[in-house]
Amino acid sequence: MLTSYCAKYKITTMKNTRAPQLETSQVIRDIREACSNELAAVEFLEQHRWGDSPCCVHCQSTNVYKMVDDKTGVRNKRFLWRCRDCKEQYTVRIGTVYEESRIPLKHWCYAFWRASTSKKGVSALEIMRHCQISYKSALFLMHRIRFAVAPDGSAPKLKGRVEADETFIGGKPRPFNYHRGMARRTKKAPVFAMVERDGSIRRLVVPTVSARNLRAALAQYVDRSATLRY
Ligand SMILES: [Zn+2]
Repeated sequence: MLTSYCAKYKITTMKNTRAPQLETSQVIRDIREACSNELAAVEFLEQHRWGDSPCCVHCQSTNVYKMVDDKTGVRNKRFLWRCRDCKEQYTVRIGTVYEESRIPLKHWCYAFWRASTSKKGVSALEIMRHCQISYKSALFLMHRIRFAVAPDGSAPKLKGRVEADETFIGGKPRPFNYHRGMARRTKKAPVFAMVERDGSIRRLVVPTVSARNLRAALAQYVDRSATLRY
């Protein structure tokens, strides 16, 4: 039927020769499994943190071993490691954003996966629904993830063709909020973004959209050789 429809209206089906070649990532493939059970999540994170040479988080010694149950031979319930040199116990969480958190690592993996693969990001509410954790926990998780992926200032400056613009993000101050004194809090925050053509992005919240602030941001993030477009 489709063929006759196409023939009637002279629709030609063109072969898409310019189909985008998606980048394949081993991490994205493995992390799906890590979201399904706790042991897989722990092993995934251990593999990506230490590779084939696990080391002690206290003294950096590689003379370490996984703690196992003497009777059954299965891995310790808390997934502990022990160092033969300093005799300390530790887990993969120590020294990371998961430290001092009781949220299972499979939920952390899921949140990391969604946060890094969703084009428009992921909300704490969605993580709450999927992982069946409280909203408070989901919000904590997202804050830690955003902190972990935030630029640390060591990223290279943007080069080539750079486009820059500002926008205002936040809820609109509504009349019913004025009497609660919330108008000041719901004021939109100006965000300035700079994008390198086919490259990376730098963005920051600026106190006010003034030439002085924007010039300072450009000087910090954009190389002097770049061609700037507003
Ligand atoms: Zn040690």
